[in-house]
Amino acid sequence: MQINLSQFAGFCDGVRRAFETVSRLVTEDPQADTFEYQRKKMKKPVFVLGSLVHNQDVVNRIEEKSIKKISLEKLENSKPGEIGTIIITAHGIGPRVYEIAKAKGIDLIDTTCPKVIKVQRLARSFVKKGYNLILVGDKDHKEVKSIYEWGGGKALVISSEEELQAVNFDPTQKIIILSQTTQSQDFLKLVYDYIKKKYKDVEIIDTICMETRQRQDELKKLAERSDAMVIIGSTESANSTRLYEISKKINPKSVFVSRVGELDDEFFADAKKVGVTAGASTPEWIISEVIEHLSKI
Ligand code: SF4
Repeated sequence: MQINLSQFAGFCDGVRRAFETVSRLVTEDPQADTFEYQRKKMKKPVFVLGSLVHNQDVVNRIEEKSIKKISLEKLENSKPGEIGTIIITAHGIGPRVYEIAKAKGIDLIDTTCPKVIKVQRLARSFVKKGYNLILVGDKDHKEVKSIYEWGGGKALVISSEEELQAVNFDPTQKIIILSQTTQSQDFLKLVYDYIKKKYKDVEIIDTICMETRQRQDELKKLAERSDAMVIIGSTESANSTRLYEISKKINPKSVFVSRVGELDDEFFADAKKVGVTAGASTPEWIISEVIEHLSKI
Protein backbone atom coordinates (compact mmCIF):
# COMPACT_ATOMS: atom_id res chain seq x y z
CA MET A 1 0.00 0.00 0.00
CA GLN A 2 1.38 3.40 -1.00
CA ILE A 3 0.87 6.17 1.57
CA ASN A 4 0.92 9.81 0.49
CA LEU A 5 1.07 12.37 3.26
CA SER A 6 0.03 15.91 2.37
CA GLN A 7 2.88 18.39 2.71
CA PHE A 8 0.42 20.70 4.49
CA ALA A 9 -0.72 18.25 7.18
CA GLY A 10 -0.68 19.31 10.83
CA PHE A 11 0.02 22.46 12.83
CA CYS A 12 -0.28 25.71 10.93
CA ASP A 13 2.23 28.50 11.66
CA GLY A 14 -0.08 30.22 14.14
CA VAL A 15 -0.77 27.09 16.18
CA ARG A 16 2.87 25.99 16.06
CA ARG A 17 3.97 29.39 17.34
CA ALA A 18 1.47 29.21 20.23
CA PHE A 19 2.41 25.62 21.09
CA GLU A 20 6.14 26.33 20.99
CA THR A 21 5.74 29.44 23.14
CA VAL A 22 3.90 27.46 25.81
CA SER A 23 6.29 24.50 25.54
CA ARG A 24 9.28 26.77 26.08
CA LEU A 25 7.61 28.40 29.06
CA VAL A 26 7.09 25.03 30.76
CA THR A 27 10.22 23.19 29.68
CA GLU A 28 12.28 21.38 32.29
CA ASP A 29 15.27 21.20 29.99
CA PRO A 30 18.09 23.14 31.73
CA GLN A 31 19.72 23.75 28.33
CA ALA A 32 16.67 25.57 26.99
CA ASP A 33 17.48 29.10 28.03
CA THR A 34 15.58 31.03 25.33
CA PHE A 35 12.66 31.89 27.55
CA GLU A 36 14.41 31.66 30.89
CA TYR A 37 13.95 35.31 31.72
CA GLN A 38 10.27 35.16 30.83
CA ARG A 39 9.79 31.89 32.77
CA LYS A 40 11.25 33.43 35.91
CA LYS A 41 9.33 36.69 35.80
CA MET A 42 6.01 35.08 34.81
CA LYS A 43 3.36 35.88 37.42
CA LYS A 44 1.95 32.64 38.85
CA PRO A 45 -0.38 30.82 38.58
CA VAL A 46 -0.47 30.66 34.79
CA PHE A 47 -3.56 29.59 32.81
CA VAL A 48 -4.48 29.16 29.16
CA LEU A 49 -7.72 30.86 28.16
CA GLY A 50 -9.66 27.94 26.65
CA SER A 51 -7.92 25.10 24.80
CA LEU A 52 -4.56 26.06 23.32
CA VAL A 53 -5.57 24.00 20.27
CA HIS A 54 -8.64 21.90 19.56
CA ASN A 55 -6.89 18.68 20.36
CA GLN A 56 -7.20 16.88 23.69
CA ASP A 57 -3.77 15.22 23.49
CA VAL A 58 -2.08 18.61 23.20
CA VAL A 59 -4.21 20.04 26.01
CA ASN A 60 -3.32 17.05 28.25
CA ARG A 61 0.41 17.51 27.60
CA ILE A 62 0.22 21.15 28.63
CA GLU A 63 -1.89 20.41 31.71
CA GLU A 64 0.68 17.81 32.81
CA LYS A 65 3.10 20.74 33.01
CA SER A 66 0.67 22.43 35.41
CA ILE A 67 -0.69 25.03 33.01
CA LYS A 68 -4.43 24.53 33.30
CA LYS A 69 -7.20 25.72 31.08
CA ILE A 70 -9.45 28.50 32.35
CA SER A 71 -12.81 29.65 30.98
CA LEU A 72 -13.77 33.23 30.25
CA GLU A 73 -16.42 33.01 32.96
CA LYS A 74 -13.84 31.96 35.59
CA LEU A 75 -11.54 34.74 34.44
CA GLU A 76 -14.35 37.26 34.80
CA ASN A 77 -15.25 36.04 38.29
CA SER A 78 -11.67 35.65 39.57
CA LYS A 79 -10.51 37.58 42.61
CA PRO A 80 -7.37 39.72 42.47
CA GLY A 81 -4.27 37.52 42.81
CA GLU A 82 -6.03 34.27 41.90
CA ILE A 83 -4.66 34.43 38.37
CA GLY A 84 -1.10 35.59 37.65
CA THR A 85 -0.80 35.20 33.88
CA ILE A 86 -3.17 34.25 31.08
CA ILE A 87 -1.94 32.76 27.81
CA ILE A 88 -4.03 33.91 24.86
CA THR A 89 -4.31 31.27 22.14
CA ALA A 90 -3.66 31.71 18.40
CA HIS A 91 -7.41 32.19 17.80
CA GLY A 92 -7.34 35.58 19.53
CA ILE A 93 -9.69 37.33 21.94
CA GLY A 94 -12.02 40.27 21.89
CA PRO A 95 -11.18 43.64 23.51
CA ARG A 96 -13.10 42.71 26.68
CA VAL A 97 -10.47 40.17 27.84
CA TYR A 98 -7.72 42.79 27.53
CA GLU A 99 -9.84 45.13 29.67
CA ILE A 100 -10.53 42.45 32.32
CA ALA A 101 -6.83 41.52 32.51
CA LYS A 102 -5.83 45.16 32.90
CA ALA A 103 -8.42 45.80 35.59
CA LYS A 104 -7.39 42.72 37.60
CA GLY A 105 -3.62 43.17 37.16
CA ILE A 106 -3.28 39.91 35.21
CA ASP A 107 -0.32 39.56 32.84
CA LEU A 108 -0.90 38.34 29.30
CA ILE A 109 1.20 36.16 27.04
CA ASP A 110 -0.50 36.80 23.75
CA THR A 111 0.01 34.20 21.01
CA THR A 112 -2.80 35.51 18.78
CA CYS A 113 -1.86 34.68 15.18
CA PRO A 114 -0.89 37.89 13.32
CA LYS A 115 -3.21 36.88 10.47
CA VAL A 116 -6.14 36.70 12.88
CA ILE A 117 -5.21 40.13 14.27
CA LYS A 118 -5.44 41.45 10.71
CA VAL A 119 -9.04 40.20 10.36
CA GLN A 120 -9.94 41.65 13.78
CA ARG A 121 -8.62 45.05 12.68
CA LEU A 122 -10.46 44.89 9.36
CA ALA A 123 -13.71 44.08 11.18
CA ARG A 124 -13.29 47.03 13.55
CA SER A 125 -12.37 49.42 10.77
CA PHE A 126 -15.21 48.52 8.36
CA VAL A 127 -17.85 48.60 11.09
CA LYS A 128 -16.58 52.04 12.11
CA LYS A 129 -16.98 53.18 8.50
CA GLY A 130 -20.62 52.09 8.61
CA TYR A 131 -20.46 48.90 6.54
CA ASN A 132 -22.70 45.91 7.19
CA LEU A 133 -20.22 43.19 8.05
CA ILE A 134 -20.75 39.58 6.96
CA LEU A 135 -18.37 37.23 8.69
CA VAL A 136 -18.24 33.79 7.08
CA GLY A 137 -17.39 31.36 9.86
CA ASP A 138 -18.52 29.09 12.67
CA LYS A 139 -20.41 31.07 15.32
CA ASP A 140 -19.03 29.14 18.28
CA HIS A 141 -15.43 29.19 17.15
CA LYS A 142 -13.08 31.25 19.33
CA GLU A 143 -11.54 33.06 16.37
CA VAL A 144 -14.95 34.06 15.01
CA LYS A 145 -16.08 35.24 18.45
CA SER A 146 -12.95 37.38 18.75
CA ILE A 147 -13.46 38.98 15.30
CA TYR A 148 -17.14 39.50 16.11
CA GLU A 149 -16.22 41.36 19.31
CA TRP A 150 -13.69 43.56 17.51
CA GLY A 151 -16.48 44.39 15.07
CA GLY A 152 -18.46 45.79 18.01
CA GLY A 153 -20.84 42.80 18.02
CA LYS A 154 -22.36 44.01 14.78
CA ALA A 155 -21.26 41.29 12.33
CA LEU A 156 -23.69 38.89 10.77
CA VAL A 157 -22.01 35.49 11.10
CA ILE A 158 -22.89 33.04 8.33
CA SER A 159 -22.04 29.37 8.50
CA SER A 160 -24.71 27.72 6.33
CA GLU A 161 -26.72 28.20 3.15
CA GLU A 162 -29.91 28.63 5.18
CA GLU A 163 -28.35 31.53 7.07
CA LEU A 164 -27.16 33.01 3.80
CA GLN A 165 -30.63 32.93 2.28
CA ALA A 166 -32.03 34.68 5.35
CA VAL A 167 -29.77 37.74 4.89
CA ASN A 168 -31.89 40.85 4.80
CA PHE A 169 -29.90 44.09 4.77
CA ASP A 170 -30.97 47.58 3.84
CA PRO A 171 -30.16 47.57 0.08
CA THR A 172 -28.75 51.11 0.24
CA GLN A 173 -25.97 50.20 2.70
CA LYS A 174 -22.50 48.96 1.85
CA ILE A 175 -21.56 45.37 2.65
CA ILE A 176 -18.14 43.95 3.45
CA ILE A 177 -17.49 40.20 3.54
CA LEU A 178 -14.67 38.80 5.69
CA SER A 179 -14.06 35.23 6.70
CA GLN A 180 -12.64 33.04 9.42
CA THR A 181 -9.06 32.15 8.46
CA THR A 182 -9.83 28.42 8.17
CA GLN A 183 -13.09 28.65 6.20
CA SER A 184 -13.84 26.60 3.12
CA GLN A 185 -12.90 28.48 -0.06
CA ASP A 186 -15.92 27.00 -1.84
CA PHE A 187 -18.36 28.23 0.80
CA LEU A 188 -16.85 31.73 0.85
CA LYS A 189 -17.26 31.92 -2.93
CA LEU A 190 -20.85 30.75 -2.66
CA VAL A 191 -21.58 33.47 -0.08
CA TYR A 192 -19.94 36.16 -2.23
CA ASP A 193 -21.76 35.12 -5.42
CA TYR A 194 -25.12 35.08 -3.62
CA ILE A 195 -24.68 38.45 -1.87
CA LYS A 196 -23.28 40.08 -5.00
CA LYS A 197 -26.40 39.08 -6.96
CA LYS A 198 -28.74 40.41 -4.27
CA TYR A 199 -26.99 43.70 -3.34
CA LYS A 200 -25.16 46.23 -5.47
CA ASP A 201 -22.52 47.63 -3.09
CA VAL A 202 -20.55 44.58 -1.95
CA GLU A 203 -16.84 44.26 -1.18
CA ILE A 204 -14.94 41.17 -0.14
CA ILE A 205 -11.54 40.76 1.47
CA ASP A 206 -10.59 37.14 1.29
CA THR A 207 -9.12 36.54 4.73
CA ILE A 208 -8.77 32.77 4.38
CA CYS A 209 -5.20 32.04 5.41
CA MET A 210 -2.78 30.88 2.70
CA GLU A 211 -2.01 27.76 4.73
CA THR A 212 -5.70 26.82 4.82
CA ARG A 213 -5.94 27.37 1.09
CA GLN A 214 -2.90 25.20 0.37
CA ARG A 215 -4.13 22.50 2.75
CA GLN A 216 -7.54 22.37 1.05
CA ASP A 217 -6.11 22.47 -2.51
CA GLU A 218 -3.63 19.71 -1.75
CA LEU A 219 -6.36 17.63 -0.12
CA LYS A 220 -8.58 17.86 -3.21
CA LYS A 221 -5.76 16.57 -5.43
CA LEU A 222 -4.88 13.80 -2.98
CA ALA A 223 -8.52 12.71 -2.61
CA GLU A 224 -8.88 12.46 -6.41
CA ARG A 225 -5.89 10.21 -6.91
CA SER A 226 -6.20 8.01 -3.79
CA ASP A 227 -8.23 4.85 -3.20
CA ALA A 228 -8.84 5.86 0.41
CA MET A 229 -8.30 9.01 2.48
CA VAL A 230 -7.45 9.47 6.15
CA ILE A 231 -8.14 12.84 7.76
CA ILE A 232 -6.54 13.22 11.18
CA GLY A 233 -7.99 15.70 13.62
CA SER A 234 -10.25 16.18 16.56
CA THR A 235 -14.02 16.43 16.09
CA GLU A 236 -13.73 19.61 18.21
CA SER A 237 -11.63 21.13 15.44
CA ALA A 238 -13.74 22.96 12.85
CA ASN A 239 -10.96 23.05 10.25
CA SER A 240 -10.31 19.29 10.57
CA THR A 241 -14.04 18.55 10.23
CA ARG A 242 -14.11 20.76 7.14
CA LEU A 243 -11.19 18.84 5.61
CA TYR A 244 -13.09 15.62 6.14
CA GLU A 245 -16.21 17.07 4.47
CA ILE A 246 -14.18 18.24 1.45
CA SER A 247 -12.46 14.86 1.17
CA LYS A 248 -15.70 12.87 1.50
CA LYS A 249 -17.32 14.83 -1.34
CA ILE A 250 -14.47 13.92 -3.71
CA ASN A 251 -13.60 10.49 -2.35
CA PRO A 252 -16.44 8.72 -0.47
CA LYS A 253 -13.88 6.32 0.98
CA SER A 254 -12.64 8.88 3.50
CA VAL A 255 -12.28 8.33 7.20
CA PHE A 256 -11.91 10.86 10.03
CA VAL A 257 -9.84 9.78 13.05
CA SER A 258 -8.44 11.66 16.00
CA ARG A 259 -5.71 9.13 16.82
CA VAL A 260 -4.16 5.90 15.62
CA GLY A 261 -6.34 3.63 17.80
CA GLU A 262 -9.43 4.63 15.78
CA LEU A 263 -8.12 3.20 12.50
CA ASP A 264 -9.89 0.08 11.23
CA ASP A 265 -7.46 -1.99 9.12
CA GLU A 266 -10.37 -3.57 7.21
CA PHE A 267 -11.22 -0.14 5.78
CA PHE A 268 -8.01 -0.27 3.73
CA ALA A 269 -8.45 -3.85 2.47
CA ASP A 270 -8.70 -2.93 -1.25
CA ALA A 271 -6.73 0.32 -1.14
CA LYS A 272 -3.49 0.54 -3.10
CA LYS A 273 -2.99 4.27 -2.58
CA VAL A 274 -3.93 6.02 0.67
CA GLY A 275 -3.82 9.79 1.06
CA VAL A 276 -3.35 11.33 4.50
CA THR A 277 -3.83 14.86 5.75
CA ALA A 278 -4.41 16.49 9.12
CA GLY A 279 -6.04 19.62 10.52
CA ALA A 280 -4.16 22.70 11.70
CA SER A 281 -4.47 21.57 15.32
CA THR A 282 -3.16 18.03 14.86
CA PRO A 283 0.30 17.54 16.40
CA GLU A 284 3.18 15.89 14.58
CA TRP A 285 3.35 12.92 16.98
CA ILE A 286 -0.24 11.83 16.18
CA ILE A 287 0.39 12.07 12.42
CA SER A 288 3.58 9.96 12.77
CA GLU A 289 1.74 7.26 14.74
CA VAL A 290 -0.96 7.04 12.06
CA ILE A 291 1.60 6.85 9.21
CA GLU A 292 3.58 4.20 11.06
CA HIS A 293 0.46 2.09 11.59
CA LEU A 294 -0.71 2.45 7.98
CA SER A 295 2.70 1.42 6.67
CA LYS A 296 2.37 -1.88 8.56
CA ILE A 297 -1.03 -2.81 7.07
S1 SF4 B 1 -4.88 28.94 10.08
FE1 SF4 B 1 -5.36 30.71 11.40
S2 SF4 B 1 -4.05 30.43 13.19
FE2 SF4 B 1 -3.22 29.11 11.57
S3 SF4 B 1 -1.66 30.36 10.52
FE3 SF4 B 1 -3.56 30.61 9.40
S4 SF4 B 1 -4.48 32.43 10.31
FE4 SF4 B 1 -2.94 31.74 11.73
